[in-house]
Amino acid sequence: MPFRSTWLWAIALAAVVVLFATGCPAANAPPAELDDRTDALQLTPYLSYLHDKRAVDSADEAWRLIAAGRFERVPNGKTAFGFQEGAYWFHAKVVNQNPDEPYWMLVQSFALLDRVDVYLRYPDGHIVQHASGDSLPFSARSISYRHPNFRIALPPGEAVDLLVRTQSQSSMQVPLELYTPAAFTSLSRDAQFVMGVYYGILLALFVYNLVLWITLRDASYFWYLFHISAFGLVLFTLNGYSFEHLWPNSPWLANVAVPLSICLAIVGMQQFSRNFLELPKRFPRGNIVSLCVIAVCVALGVAALWLPYRIATPWATRAVIVSVLWTVTVAIVVLRRGYMPARLFLVAWAVFLTGAAMIAALAFGLLPKNMMTEYGVQIGSALEMLLLSIALSYRYASLRNENERIAAEANLQLERKVAQRTQEVRSTLMQLEDAHRRLRDSSRRDGLTGLYNRTHFHENFELLLKESREQKQPLSLLMIDLDHFKSINDKYGHLAGDDCLRWAAQRIGQSLRVHETSLLARFGGEEFVAVLPGHDLRSAVSVAESVRKRLVEELCSSGEHRLRVSASIGVHTVEPEADIDSDAALSVADQALYSAKANGRDCVRTSITAA
Ligand code: GH3
Ligand code: MG
Ligand code: MG
Repeated sequence: MPFRSTWLWAIALAAVVVLFATGCPAANAPPAELDDRTDALQLTPYLSYLHDKRAVDSADEAWRLIAAGRFERVPNGKTAFGFQEGAYWFHAKVVNQNPDEPYWMLVQSFALLDRVDVYLRYPDGHIVQHASGDSLPFSARSISYRHPNFRIALPPGEAVDLLVRTQSQSSMQVPLELYTPAAFTSLSRDAQFVMGVYYGILLALFVYNLVLWITLRDASYFWYLFHISAFGLVLFTLNGYSFEHLWPNSPWLANVAVPLSICLAIVGMQQFSRNFLELPKRFPRGNIVSLCVIAVCVALGVAALWLPYRIATPWATRAVIVSVLWTVTVAIVVLRRGYMPARLFLVAWAVFLTGAAMIAALAFGLLPKNMMTEYGVQIGSALEMLLLSIALSYRYASLRNENERIAAEANLQLERKVAQRTQEVRSTLMQLEDAHRRLRDSSRRDGLTGLYNRTHFHENFELLLKESREQKQPLSLLMIDLDHFKSINDKYGHLAGDDCLRWAAQRIGQSLRVHETSLLARFGGEEFVAVLPGHDLRSAVSVAESVRKRLVEELCSSGEHRLRVSASIGVHTVEPEADIDSDAALSVADQALYSAKANGRDCVRTSITAA
């Protein structure tokens, strides 16, 4: 059983209390027989033991106590005693019946014992002594291997007394095994392969997530790396590899590394879960508890540098139980609050705990020993790390999707706002344009009659004159002046006068409406002017006549008054070839008007007739 060291973890993580020996009735253990079919043998069933509580007995005293029958069978057939004071002595009688294998490997398959002394007493009475354990430099071992081991001579056919003394501040686990050199080689090769695969997976996950952390700078990745490194170090130490590879000359570190790496792993685990599950935001109270767990573990980690290993390690183990239970609790709480990445996180931990539980079940004989159960912690933790790595990617993807959704929503809102503002600006512009148009229009109109005013007339008359010349067409001008208007004002008042002006403007407009291109304006006072492009003199006179008639054929109503309004009209036609400006043309038309007035009013006169 090369990985019984992992029991420490398994038992701790599954929250199983190690049962302590209460002592078994004394009985002689049978001798261990090694025949030619045996290439590996667990010595536990053949062992008797003695707990030397003050660690004072010498080997001679132990031989004497064996002879006196003071050694007992190991309790419950197990050589696991938990954290104990003093030293343990184990005795077995070994008979090698295999003539081909005079040398055997005695292996203590738990890496952390401080000191293992082996005494072999041969039938001729001579005694051979070996020593190992992590309180001695790694080079003291027979074979460079992570578990203490001894190459012992077992002459065929001889009954040899094997006495083993163990002392340690670690948990007292003494799974002693005998192997032929060939079996030991194959065992170490297989174990090395499995461990190689395991640490290879851990290393690959480490490098992969290291690259992601460097690229993404997400704190979760950092704490994942921290956790995986510290956890890897815990197993590396428990399996005896740290002593073999990292600090072979430091028995002190070999002991301290266990509680220290456990504390670091807990800190990493808690920090990772705080970041991954976003505890400060999603579970603030839980976050405070997590911080307390971290603080305790930091304190314990520092204390472990000075505290005896036997005290620090059980406390670190208890902290593991609390930490794992707490991590699972916060994950469930956060998941129930609707945070989906917590689901994968929880599955990862469940897988790990299953692996740990398998080791515990194996330790209690509930499950048969096979690859799955024996390497449960390794398989469980490798899967856990893998799942956590996937959970990290999933979380990153969901964060990114959420960010993209928020950005898209913000864009949409921005677009909506821009469209709304554009619409508002457009409608304001339209209103402005309308106001501007109305303003411009009103500046061109006469307030009383609604006809164009004199300014507008002048601007447009010039243009019409120019156009007519270009088109080589005549253009006629009508000057219309209401007759005796002063007397209307005098008789009926100015308001009635205004009514008459409005009425006359309307009637003149109606008569000219048929001539689309015409321009009609109030020239001033009770005087109007009309331009008829394309009309020669004859046609213009006819239009003027129709205007005049239209005025007199009906009476203008103003209050209760019915008033007759007539007009005198002067007509002038500007021929295309005539070299005359607008003022001159108006003046000629005015003369024609004057002529109409002179001829008795309510009549039409032309510039020609005037002349
Ligand atoms: P004639 O037939 O010779 O044109 O005589 P007349 O009275 O119409 O001409 P005159 O030039 O002597 O008087 C024009 C009058 O028109 C004087 C003025 O009081 C009146 N008048 C001018 N503008 C307005 C106006 O806006 N409202 C009113 N009620 N009267 C106006
Ligand atoms: Mg007049
Ligand atoms: Mg006048």
